[in-house]
Amino acid sequence: TPTIGVLALQGDVREHTRVLESCEARAVAVRRPEELDTVDGLVIPGGESTTMAKLAAAFDLMEPLRKWVYEGLPCYGSCAGMIMLADTVLDGTRDQQTIGGIDMSVRRNAFGRQVESFEAPVAVRGLDGGPVEGIFIRAPWVESVGERVAELAHVTRGERAGRIVAVRQESLLATAFHPELTGDARIHQLFVDMVKGQA
Ligand code: GLN
Repeated sequence: TPTIGVLALQGDVREHTRVLESCEARAVAVRRPEELDTVDGLVIPGGESTTMAKLAAAFDLMEPLRKWVYEGLPCYGSCAGMIMLADTVLDGTRDQQTIGGIDMSVRRNAFGRQVESFEAPVAVRGLDGGPVEGIFIRAPWVESVGERVAELAHVTRGERAGRIVAVRQESLLATAFHPELTGDARIHQLFVDMVKGQA
């Protein structure tokens, strides 16, 4: 059974923990650099990316997290976590720091304000069983990707059609939406399988 850390500085840590445990992973909170040494994979939850980045810096986690990603260890970021894994942030706050790792530009709050949050079915490449329910809460989208990045999902309808909302680059996975809020564990199962070296 793999042990998967959930970065527990800010955001919806408990929801990710619950889903991971339903995927036969052991989930533990990570708040300190040493705790990174005890986990096989790491989830960066949704929340607020600027706050999360500031807390990561304050807890001396930014460099250990960059090292984690640089070493090719598995990491999954949802929403704010996707922003944290982006090499470049558009519409970030001034000097917004990220961990980086995925060769992409992510536009923060791209879909608009809180009231424009929405749900839509999202077909994710490689997942059996039909589309997942995408919950987008002040979500980012991926504006552009480098050639090592696989686009796993796009918005299918409306004026945002074609926007990239899920990506994978080797051991790094990111979604603009929040599968931890849906009761559908397939995205987390994909990540657990990546951690096990089976996906
Ligand atoms: N808008 C948030 C940010 O910029 C992300 C929102 C979320 O994680 N639901 O970090």
